[in-house]
Amino acid sequence: MQTQILGLLTPLVGLLFAATFVLFWKMGNLRRHVLGFAIGYIFFSAGYLVTHFLPPDAFYLFHTTQLLYSLAVIAMVASICERVGQSINIPLLFGIYAVSALVLTLAVSLTGDVAPRLIIVNTGYGAMYIVCLATLLMAPRRGLADLAIIIVVAIGAADFLVRPNLTLMYQSIIPEEAYRDSFYYSVIGLVLGVKTVLGAMVLIGATIEEWTTSFRESSEADPLTGLQNRAAFETDMRTLIPKAQGEGRPLSLVVADIDHFKQVNDIWGHQAGDKAISSFGRLISEMVRSCDSAGRVGGEEFCIAVYNCPNEPAERLAERIRQSFAQLAHEGLSNDIRLTASFGVASANDGETYEQLFARADEALYKAKSNGRNRVENAERTSLADHSSAAPNSPGPDPQPELPRTAQMD
Ligand code: GH3
Ligand code: MG
Ligand code: MG
Repeated sequence: MQTQILGLLTPLVGLLFAATFVLFWKMGNLRRHVLGFAIGYIFFSAGYLVTHFLPPDAFYLFHTTQLLYSLAVIAMVASICERVGQSINIPLLFGIYAVSALVLTLAVSLTGDVAPRLIIVNTGYGAMYIVCLATLLMAPRRGLADLAIIIVVAIGAADFLVRPNLTLMYQSIIPEEAYRDSFYYSVIGLVLGVKTVLGAMVLIGATIEEWTTSFRESSEADPLTGLQNRAAFETDMRTLIPKAQGEGRPLSLVVADIDHFKQVNDIWGHQAGDKAISSFGRLISEMVRSCDSAGRVGGEEFCIAVYNCPNEPAERLAERIRQSFAQLAHEGLSNDIRLTASFGVASANDGETYEQLFARADEALYKAKSNGRNRVENAERTSLADHSSAAPNSPGPDPQPELPRTAQMD
């Protein structure tokens, strides 16, 4: 009776972990591999219950356990690999299962000794873990959680491949009816309990890290464009500028503002305007490098910090973005309408703060607006003294902006 109750402990803990992963997945809106961990633990718990509670001489006992444990391992290793963007060879995993199931059938029909069965099924699980390990080692490693998972998988593989042989050296023949009283069975109960808890701790830690990262990213992202929001961009800049200066690298700032945008809203509605803002954001994110930082800092105003980039290449980048945007068709606007944007570029001087750099780039943007829009102005080349009394980024002197038609906007 006591053994039966103890036998419930590991599957109950497994189901508790499964519920934890389902909760994480749902509440954190996390990717599906977290749900995969839960599925892994459900199959594992079912497998454990079957081993512990089915009649020991049931001929299907090993087959059922092997099927459930194999599904647990497949769900687990596929999810672990998906977590780091690697896709594991699923047909290979099922192939390993099929081969070991076939060999197991032979072993069951040939002998009542369960020792060979244990070696066969564990070798199958071990082979799946090795496939997982090889797949993980091909992924770019990112942090402590990735390393911890690799170590747990390596321990898992070693356990499946080595432990059965070691344990069976102590008791080499185990008749079916004596299986649950064997030394092997006591060891496996302990090992499975420890592995379940250890594995879950590492996966829960990795999932919590993922949840906090996605929470931070979503609180820093502008929902319309997916770029950084103003606060996040400014925070980024306050570390990026001193970093670039400390490393002796140039850093340039591009400020962009869509031209005559009020009229877009007035003519085609706010929703069409939102879509145009979102397209501009997407275009920017496609055209900058991963070391650059881009944000939507106002309604239809964007900033790009071009890292390790001197003034002229940054101006050329702004020019490329300007040209690409001017060619873009927009959903919700007439087919022949093309929007344009104006750009200001400035490069950080020694000891300059973000506010000072932004003010110079914004002044260049103002110059681009007042010089006719749909153009790039460079703070390092233009004299802006004559505009110093104007409010930065004001609509400019254009008394009556034209409607945004293709010819007139260009
Ligand atoms: P300019 O060429 O001088 O930049 O002219 P403009 O009409 O674009 O002038 P301004 O930059 O002052 O106006 C920006 C307009 O953008 C004002 C507001 O109606 C609109 N806007 C701001 N935020 C959003 C937004 O999130 N969605 C939409 N659809 N419109 C927005
Ligand atoms: Mg504008
Ligand atoms: Mg504006």
